[in-house]
Amino acid sequence: MTVEQKRVLATAIPGPRSVELHARKTAAVASGVGTTLPVYVTQAGGGIVVDVDGNQLIDFGSGIAVTSIGNAAPRVVEAVSEQVAAFTHTCFMVTPYEGYVAVAEALNELTPDDHDKRSALFNSGAEAVENAVKIARSHTGRQAVVAFDHAYHGRTNLTMALTAKSMPYKSGFGPFASEIYRVPMAYPYRWPTGPENCADEAFELFVSQVHAQVGEANTAAVLIEPIQGEGGFIVPPAGFLKRVSDWCAEHGIVFIADEIQTGFCRTGDWFASDHEGVVPDLITTAKGIAGGLPLAGVTGRADIMDSVHGGGLGGTYGGNPVACAAALASIETMKAENLVGAARDIEAVMLPRLTALAEKYDAIGDVRGRGAMLAVELVEPGSKTPNPALTGAVSAACHQAGVITLTAGTYGNVLRFLPPLVIGEALLHEGLDVLDEAFAANA
Ligand SMILES: *Cc1c(COP(=O)(O)O)cnc(C)c1O
Repeated sequence: MTVEQKRVLATAIPGPRSVELHARKTAAVASGVGTTLPVYVTQAGGGIVVDVDGNQLIDFGSGIAVTSIGNAAPRVVEAVSEQVAAFTHTCFMVTPYEGYVAVAEALNELTPDDHDKRSALFNSGAEAVENAVKIARSHTGRQAVVAFDHAYHGRTNLTMALTAKSMPYKSGFGPFASEIYRVPMAYPYRWPTGPENCADEAFELFVSQVHAQVGEANTAAVLIEPIQGEGGFIVPPAGFLKRVSDWCAEHGIVFIADEIQTGFCRTGDWFASDHEGVVPDLITTAKGIAGGLPLAGVTGRADIMDSVHGGGLGGTYGGNPVACAAALASIETMKAENLVGAARDIEAVMLPRLTALAEKYDAIGDVRGRGAMLAVELVEPGSKTPNPALTGAVSAACHQAGVITLTAGTYGNVLRFLPPLVIGEALLHEGLDVLDEAFAANA
């Protein structure tokens, strides 16, 4: 590893050179493109991000669950360098190449179950979700798509419609795509009659609302994140996903698992669906798939995927050869370094410490997640009233102390942790010590 695995505070955060660059950013970049922590990066690797002022920050974000295998991971660097020198683009729809096919084969093999599958590659998560919906509609001849409260599926027009949260993702950007219907999410912590009733009642509500408000025969697809990401790392109760997917099968509805954030070892399995024994009809992937290069996929049952007419799917850059080389090297790294096991090890270190923090600080209302996708939900002590102010303050204190933390949640009151799966245990503990101090100073 070329980056020393050590937190270093060389200046205030952000330091003077970052402040200078940020002034240029403000003058040159559209202000709608936000920044969580305005330190400007020069290098990153393992569990560390290095900035222009020589600060070294502990990475609890992985660029939003992307660099699971670490930044500039050696196999990716080598594979990408070789591919870039050979050819950079032909367009797979014009003259194809092996890398795309090999990524499709890998996706077909790694996703749950061994039935006959096909894959198609795209550039971003949102584009994968759009295409999954196109495929489901084409296959079923139906139009309606059911999505859940707190869902996040992207920022394009169709995926904005599928995303639940108005600010900042949708506000002012309508009109949105039609034939999208929203149902309650099985959210144990906030289930009105208590977490013990969540699984049954959420499933009953789902069934009755789709039946009454949409109609099974009009429903092309049900789309769900097995663990919700931007919505606050909401983990549905065990069995909920299986009941929904079984119900979809009964009614000829395509069950789509959006595993863009949960996939590729993040939750301690190759895919979060594996943990629940769920076999989705279609799976969308992106984020962790290619070590930071832009790539996304839709993988699913051959009969569904192949129901689309020839030429109906594609795009100029989809499955770019450099991104495919990166994906193959990433998958090889995940296997060689047992990153499924690494995600479970991270949970084994972090979850008890987060639980201990919740005992210490009343403002932590809930601790949840799986593998290296963990979160705490912050509330006003003694209630479940969301506490976004404290969430922001704790996160900012972590940033000042050199730990990159991210927030999430419909109410902006969730601190989420997505460390690279290759982070060392010492850095993990050090980051959690910083988090503890941030709570001590603010809660
Ligand atoms: C990030 C994300 C998307 C959108 O992916 P982009 O690559 O940003 O378009 C869609 N679904 C989920 C669950 C995500 O986490």
